[in-house]
Amino acid sequence: MKLIDGKKVSQEIKNELKEKIAKAKEVTGKIPGLVTIIVGENPASQIYVKMKNKSCAEIGMYSEKRELSESISEDELLNIIDEYNNDEKINGILVQLPLPKHIDENKVIEKISPLKDVDGFHPVSVGNLVIGKETFLSCTPYGIWELLKRYKIETKGKHVVVVGRSNIVGKPIANIMLQKAEGANSVVTICHSAAPDLSYFTKQADILIAAIGRANFITKEMVKDNVVVIDVGINRIDDPNSEKGYKIVGDVDFDEVAEKSSYITPVPGGVGPMTIAMLLQNTFTSFARKNNLSN
Ligand code: NAP
Repeated sequence: MKLIDGKKVSQEIKNELKEKIAKAKEVTGKIPGLVTIIVGENPASQIYVKMKNKSCAEIGMYSEKRELSESISEDELLNIIDEYNNDEKINGILVQLPLPKHIDENKVIEKISPLKDVDGFHPVSVGNLVIGKETFLSCTPYGIWELLKRYKIETKGKHVVVVGRSNIVGKPIANIMLQKAEGANSVVTICHSAAPDLSYFTKQADILIAAIGRANFITKEMVKDNVVVIDVGINRIDDPNSEKGYKIVGDVDFDEVAEKSSYITPVPGGVGPMTIAMLLQNTFTSFARKNNLSN
């Protein structure tokens, strides 16, 4: 069994971007910029935004945090997004989700210019992915694809079984793996909670991608020998032995399933760290496109 080390790969990507940004600055006198817009006081969102801004600083990318009151109206938020659509120093716009209930998330996502849609959630980005055009990929699935490529895992003709059909993980990773492209070109099955016998599908997987949100849900009986396992889950469970009283585990029962796997991502340290790295990559891509630089 080989561990897929997302922490290491994400650091490699950040190092590569740092070099590219330094070179781009020499040529154009400009650096890429990302704005993160955060509405309200959600503590988890505050932590994510802080991590994103810190990563930008590490690689020499400009970043701006725009904090807005929980009571902001939908129209006001849409106008602010438009400001950034027209702001020359901003190449990527990220609105931290979830938003307060009185704001329609879809309207907000659709307001972001597809040219700056670094989260890859805009219907134009999603549509381009489905028809196989170059586009912004949403960051967690993009990170999974990058891990498979960098570990040179054979995907062509392999059966990829995705458990989960969310718009941010399950559906986009299924569409990525379906592309006729390097590191993809797979036969893809998508499962969800209505699957009558989930094991029937998961046992067929050469590559199993679990994006369910249930701790240790995939057990060794549900996979075949030598499976490649990508565990997207982030679940908090009680752990009296830890100082905090809890620990983070994935959707896969790691200890059991690792024994049967050829490759597996740990949680934490697998898919998780890749998400921010790919957000930075998307922001650089947006900047590179605008300035006719190679990506
Ligand atoms: P989500 O929107 O809740 O979707 C979960 C999916 O799992 C749904 O499609 C659901 O089916 C399916 N599911 C639930 N129970 C099932 C069962 N018993 N059998 C088969 N399918 C079942 O979750 P998400 O946003 O995709 O996230 C999934 C996990 O990944 C979470 O733990 C989340 O924290 C984590 N995550 C990690 C990252 C990262 O590493 N950066 C990013 C995003 C998410 P239905 O559609 O039928 O309800």
